[in-house]
Amino acid sequence: MEFAFFTENELKCPCCGEMKMDIRFMDRMSGLRICVNEPMPVTSGYRCKKHNKAVGGRPNSAHLIGRAVDINIYHNKVYKMLSHLLTYGLTGVGFKQTGAANHRIIHLDDLEQTENRMRPTVWTY
Ligand SMILES: [Zn+2]
Repeated sequence: MEFAFFTENELKCPCCGEMKMDIRFMDRMSGLRICVNEPMPVTSGYRCKKHNKAVGGRPNSAHLIGRAVDINIYHNKVYKMLSHLLTYGLTGVGFKQTGAANHRIIHLDDLEQTENRMRPTVWTY
């Protein structure tokens, strides 16, 4: 699998090298990346169960099904990105509260609303 703006190296699970990103999710991310036209380095993409547990991910994390990325984007670039999220079907936005000002991490996913999960929504972690 190859994606224009995202490398296999940054998308694969760091513990086992598996990279089962969802094609529709990656289409959405590519659309967003082109529209916003800012770098979106991925700090976490696909996660196997073991790695997800190791990094404290939720048991039902979108990373486990290749439908989430954490990206290093900050300051006005985040602002620029926010208004385009729904256009590209990105429904979950998590702002990591820790980290240096230029190393802010934002989680993006495209999960649907279910009985137990509100979408679209924004949270901090
Ligand atoms: Zn792994």
